[in-house]
Amino acid sequence: MSPGKANSLRLTELDIPKAEKGQVLLKVLRVGICGTDRDIIEGFYGDAPHGYDYLVIGHESLCRIEEADNEFKRGDLVVPTVRRGCPENCEACRIGMSDMCLTGNYKEHGIKGLHGFGAEYALTDSNYLVKLPESLTDIGVLLEPLTIAEKGIKTAFNMQKSRFPVKPKMALVLGAGPVGLLATALLRLYDIDVDTVATRPDYSLKANLVRQTGATYINSKENPLSSLEGKYDLVFELTGNVEVAMEAQKLARANGIVSFLGIYRHTLESEDIGKIFTDLVLGNRVYFGSVNANRHYFEDGVNHLLGMQERWPSFLNRMITRTFKPEDYSAAYFNKDEEEIKTVISFTEST
Ligand code: BGC
Repeated sequence: MSPGKANSLRLTELDIPKAEKGQVLLKVLRVGICGTDRDIIEGFYGDAPHGYDYLVIGHESLCRIEEADNEFKRGDLVVPTVRRGCPENCEACRIGMSDMCLTGNYKEHGIKGLHGFGAEYALTDSNYLVKLPESLTDIGVLLEPLTIAEKGIKTAFNMQKSRFPVKPKMALVLGAGPVGLLATALLRLYDIDVDTVATRPDYSLKANLVRQTGATYINSKENPLSSLEGKYDLVFELTGNVEVAMEAQKLARANGIVSFLGIYRHTLESEDIGKIFTDLVLGNRVYFGSVNANRHYFEDGVNHLLGMQERWPSFLNRMITRTFKPEDYSAAYFNKDEEEIKTVISFTEST
């Protein structure tokens, strides 16, 4: 597609890319579709790689190594991380933490300045690949969205520990999309009580998946967010909705931490900004934002996917609600269905 140009998404023939030194050729099995992809398609976001007038999209992927290198054998199951360091090699990128890049000149596969994985073959740097066991073949495409939750949750835990060394008991997850559901499951793996809020009815797939992990599902159409004020040690905002984000700030109890993991495209004028800052100070609260994830979160994520498979065997499979062939990309990206959680495109019949 042509970044910045709405509705320029197309399927096209490309040559198999050639790996240069330090790169690995990947055979893509599947890519997942998320809100960022849809934002890029609508022309809000995204940059083509230098020298190209198009961008291959797709940053959530599951691949096999096509050409072996020193570290990987042909056929190894891998997931590449998304972000690559900035040309300035800032203090964060230098130590492998491009997710915390200081300059903003990082690149992201399928999003910003690097082709993505929405193709039969793709290239990436070999030191940004994380190996998966074969038992994760069916659901390994969920690793990248899980890493967004991994980073947000670990950051919140570290903040909690350093300020108030009492284990958090109650967490609230706002939104039951893929990252919301994965955050719910991850918090449950840590034995935290979780309430997850979304707008779908109590009998919906999302509500059932929340309950499968032992969390409580709250339908916000029946229970206004204001009824949850001041209850939670940790709040994770994943809806990307500004109104919900404004409410989210009020839901943490004293010493609580509110983490914003969505991208907020719209603005809203607040009449109450003074109250927000006063509550922040008087309640010793922390509000923080978090984006992207480095390879450590991917490595932790592999173990947690295995933990989720063991504890709730069908949970992750049920999250993948639709699988399309590349030629049906239009239906995959544009026809949303009510029960949609994660839509994937499969580039091969075999795995
Ligand atoms: C991706 C992140 C990326 C962010 C902003 C998200 O959809 O999962 O890896 O950093 O978009 O581009």
